[in-house]
Amino acid sequence: MLLKSEPSAIAAFLEDTSNLKSGWTPGVCFPETLEEIAALLREAHADGRRYTIAGNGTGTTGARIPFGDYVIAMQKLDRIDEVEVLGDDKAMLHVQGGALLQDVQAKAAAAGWFYPPDPTEKTCFIGSTISNNSTGSRSLKYGPTRNYVQALKIALPQGDILKIERGEHFADTEDRFTIDLPIAGRVTFRLPDYTMPKTSKHNAGYWSKPGMDLIDLFIGSEGTLGVILEATLLLRPAPESVIACLAWFQSEEELLDFVGKARTGSGGVSPRALELFDRRAQEFLRQSYPEIAQETAGAIYFEEETTADAEDTCLEAWLDLMEACGSPVEKSWAALDSEGLQKLREFRHQLPVLVNEWLSRQSESKVSTDMALPDERFAELFRLYRDACDREGFTYIIFGHIGNAHLHLNILPRNHEEFVRAKTLYRQLVSDVLAMGGTLSAEHGIGKLKSEYLVQMYGREGIMEMVRVKKAFDPYLTLNVGNMIPKEYFE
Ligand SMILES: Cc1cc2nc3c(=O)[nH]c(=O)nc-3n(C[C@H](O)[C@H](O)[C@H](O)COP(=O)(O)OP(=O)(O)OC[C@H]3O[C@@H](n4cnc5c(N)ncnc54)[C@H](O)[C@@H]3O)c2cc1C
Repeated sequence: MLLKSEPSAIAAFLEDTSNLKSGWTPGVCFPETLEEIAALLREAHADGRRYTIAGNGTGTTGARIPFGDYVIAMQKLDRIDEVEVLGDDKAMLHVQGGALLQDVQAKAAAAGWFYPPDPTEKTCFIGSTISNNSTGSRSLKYGPTRNYVQALKIALPQGDILKIERGEHFADTEDRFTIDLPIAGRVTFRLPDYTMPKTSKHNAGYWSKPGMDLIDLFIGSEGTLGVILEATLLLRPAPESVIACLAWFQSEEELLDFVGKARTGSGGVSPRALELFDRRAQEFLRQSYPEIAQETAGAIYFEEETTADAEDTCLEAWLDLMEACGSPVEKSWAALDSEGLQKLREFRHQLPVLVNEWLSRQSESKVSTDMALPDERFAELFRLYRDACDREGFTYIIFGHIGNAHLHLNILPRNHEEFVRAKTLYRQLVSDVLAMGGTLSAEHGIGKLKSEYLVQMYGREGIMEMVRVKKAFDPYLTLNVGNMIPKEYFE
């Protein structure tokens, strides 16, 4: 196993897309086998080492950035097996934690199957998407990554390798798990007592539900409970055909009306994705797409799965709905084949790229939200963000998964004074969203940047319950310390 410590080799591991600075590491390990990872962890306490797990660095919360830890780089563990077909509508794919999401999706597609989780950024590792319970636009129909994880092989912090198959280990009537392990011995703990929000997307803190499956504790635990070595993923039959379209609106109220009707299936539509680009997002996108009309108040991108026979009817239902909500049908951008679909996806991906380019020319970082409300409250979330930012006079954009009431607000400070005000507003918005029954993070996780706000969500007692779970697996605090749970709670 390679261990690199020269500055040029480790520099990339000191960043992700969060702009969090001042990470440092004595060295980056590049394990090539599962056993090498287990051995690193087994010897960590005796060696006086801590480890941070690195995926591919597309995370937004500083979670993979080490502050003195050694790094376990997952990139050499990238095997993807052949698709295993188990029936007409069921297949599985066995992968290693460092496999790229886009390669996993391509492997499934080449065999005529479909892996639904689709974070906009496809160059992430599958192990990271599991540790973050990642979601994407298609989660409106298919739900989060959690729904597609059938089995995991995990290296636990003391060096045991644990295999978990969904459906095998459930919490007992007192919400307790007991696991006997060769190295760690008996691990026993009670799940946190907090109630999780009723949002359709949620990735903030340990998963905790009465009678839950043990596998769900590890999914979304941000690498704090173990290294995901391998996963068995559930595949779905590939849809025969997908239509996609960008519908433009001249008023925000018409746009919100369209979302409300589309998500409840008005006129027979059945979207698998409903994504917002607000007016300010259009202004960014116009740099790459000058054909975007000046008068637009925003756009909704939608996708629906259909069949070749039903395509026309499906499209007609959407056009009727657009017309009914005041969207000029002739100006919409529709995609009826894979090339068109790819172009619209590229359009979606351009937004964060353009925002990041803008930010690289500024001295201040953006302040961004990843919060969600219960689905039916999507318009309230939009208005909350819009009104607050307009009041403050900020440059900002609002975009993302409006069908799941999960919107990304990016405040783009032009100077330090604005950055400080944006942080103050962020704290206020967190309070507002939590009071409305929302979640602090729907998909990006907590990492190092948002752990103080997790305290706002679950309170000191909730955090201490997470500490007890963490310490049951990781008594020497070896793995991903500083992620999710603020460090001071371990003292
Ligand atoms: C432009 C852009 C768009 C994005 N869109 C989405 C989106 O639509 N939906 C979404 O959910 N996210 C999105 N993200 C966020 C990001 O892509 C995901 O969080 C992704 O899962 C991170 O993967 P990574 O391999 O880059 O992980 P990293 O950033 O390297 O690490 C992320 C976390 O995973 C942990 N980790 C990595 N590998 C393992 C492992 N094998 N076992 C245990 N823990 C591990 C790390 O320790 C860290 O805590 C987006 C990011 C960008 C930049």
